[in-house]
Amino acid sequence: MKITILTLFPEVFEGFFSTSIPLLAKEKGLLDVNIINFRDYTTDKHHKCDDEPYGGGAGMVLKPEPLFKALKSIDATSKRVIYPTPSGKLFNQSIAKELSNEKELVFIAGHYEGLDQRVIDSFVTDELSIGDYVLSSGETAILVMVDAIYRLIDGVISPESLVEESFNDSLLEYPQYTRPQEYEGMRVPEVLLSGNHKQINDWRYKKRLEKTIKNRIDLMSKNIN
Ligand code: SAM
Repeated sequence: MKITILTLFPEVFEGFFSTSIPLLAKEKGLLDVNIINFRDYTTDKHHKCDDEPYGGGAGMVLKPEPLFKALKSIDATSKRVIYPTPSGKLFNQSIAKELSNEKELVFIAGHYEGLDQRVIDSFVTDELSIGDYVLSSGETAILVMVDAIYRLIDGVISPESLVEESFNDSLLEYPQYTRPQEYEGMRVPEVLLSGNHKQINDWRYKKRLEKTIKNRIDLMSKNIN
């Protein structure tokens, strides 16, 4: 998959894409990342990317010209273009799964009061929100979405790890333990040391139910996939 990100702050993405699983995915040729600073597409002396909103009101709005030029340079009208915004549809695992099947995704990072609506009308295919709160910028929302999406691309992580995760069905994941068997007086549940797979599966299912009822009862009434 190719991921293109239009941002005024490319440095925000450097650490993420140069460490751990994203780096491995790039090295395996499963992920190609293109970061574009749309300030490079300004033509005025001050490289201005924002201006006051028509109609008045607080804050600044990202101007259309640099974004139009940057988006045209990558032929964005033929691509899936995502604008993270609090007023978008709520992003979730099922949307992440669907987007992981795309060959290319383009993300636009908003700032201040957001983008001039003409950018959205001309290029954006998906307006997505990562939750009911307001961030100061789109970069962090893009990192959240990209992280949820790229790991679902075939070959990035083992299929078994994905099957047993939260949100793969209507239950959350069971609790996990590793060595040592006892730490600060707390023992790993005996059943996990028993080697009895049936009992382990039953215990895990019970824990998934308990956790979902406690934290996310709403999931049990929806089919996540
Ligand atoms: N004025 C906008 C509103 O009230 O909807 C908020 C703009 S916010 C301060 C600046 C940028 O952060 C947005 O353009 C968007 O890209 C990003 N952003 C903020 N909250 C977000 C959320 N919950 N999900 C996705 N992106 C978000």
